Amino acid sequence: MIKIPKGTKDVLPSNSAKWHLVEENIKKLAKKYALNEIRTPIFEHTELFLRGVGDTTDIVNKEMYTFLDKADRSITLKPEGTACVARSFIENGLDSAGVMPVKMYYETPVFRYENPQSGRLREHHQFGVEIYGSASAYTDAEVISIAKDMLESMQVANVKLYINSIGCADCRKKYNEALRTYLANSLDSMCPQCKERFDKNPLRILDCKEDKCKLVTKSAPRILDYLCGDCKDHFDKLKHTLDLMNILYTVKADIVRGLDYYTGTVFEFVAEDVGLTVCGGGRYNGLLEQIGGKPTPAVGFGMGIERLLQVANADLIDSATPNVPTIYFAPMQEYYDKAISLTAMLREAGISADTDHIGRSLKAQMKYAGKLGVRFVGILGEDELKQDAVSIKDMQIGETQLVKIADLINYIEKKVN
Ligand SMILES: [Zn+2]
Ligand SMILES: [Zn+2]
Repeated sequence: MIKIPKGTKDVLPSNSAKWHLVEENIKKLAKKYALNEIRTPIFEHTELFLRGVGDTTDIVNKEMYTFLDKADRSITLKPEGTACVARSFIENGLDSAGVMPVKMYYETPVFRYENPQSGRLREHHQFGVEIYGSASAYTDAEVISIAKDMLESMQVANVKLYINSIGCADCRKKYNEALRTYLANSLDSMCPQCKERFDKNPLRILDCKEDKCKLVTKSAPRILDYLCGDCKDHFDKLKHTLDLMNILYTVKADIVRGLDYYTGTVFEFVAEDVGLTVCGGGRYNGLLEQIGGKPTPAVGFGMGIERLLQVANADLIDSATPNVPTIYFAPMQEYYDKAISLTAMLREAGISADTDHIGRSLKAQMKYAGKLGVRFVGILGEDELKQDAVSIKDMQIGETQLVKIADLINYIEKKVN
């Protein structure tokens, strides 16, 4: 038997309504905040991620699905959404359209060759928002409020927002020096990866999940103490704007995010009850220039949909049920033609209807309709058809009523509303 590849999951017909619930909430959110969807291909030239994600990150070093195509081009399945949006933005000249800021969202599968023990999927799905062309702290706050709104629409319990600033290149140069000085003596007790990061990008050492590294970085200097005047001002404005929006936050100095292109604001939403980060984002003013565009301020976030479903309110998720017909016609086999035409008539009136497809007995059809959970079963037998009527059984209350075919649409519509 051919099986699904490791680290991937099917969304089955019985489960897809939960995904639609998320997608409907995304669409409502997009309307409210005037975001428009951008769709980019599943694969890109590998170069995009080397430049747009950064070659010191785990994603690029270990987790990308990279292969040569038949013309020997290096192709990579997208490991995240932002670099792809940035590439499309530049390539399509959206930066010269004179309508800044450009407010976009995406929903996309992303691919990472994760260690199977980690329990994380190799294909998972991300919802993300990207706003390009505004350097204002107001835009950072708006992106944060969109993420918060999304988490609220899924009724995620006990979510906390953590914010930080990792400064501009100038701030980081000074900070990296201070961090290196602090770490130099403890380097021997740290993991091999952090030893590598020490030279290339010491900031990322703060992101290390190894206990021995966490122990060392616990009392490391804080980047917030090394911000230049402009970066400090931006961070203060962000906090002020969040206050205006009544959004609660906690400043947390060790959020640095795993990606190299972040500048200034970084943030995370954590579902505290389960200790899971459900959304991460920030500002990345350097990204567009880094992949060949004009310098363009940019801010955004990514949110894993599988994780969102995991932490969303269970009752809300369970309320998203599969499509079942409102009325199911159960004919004696000799009245099958009538059942087909009645089904068509109701569908034409916009009512979800179905009938037997596989020649079941009347009893078996009733059983099947019960299993599906339909609200009404329309029984077609000799007595009914003699009177141009159908026996409608309301499965919710167990009552059966004879309804004239001419009144049928009206009857169902009234009952449903
Ligand atoms: Zn700065
Ligand atoms: Zn480490």
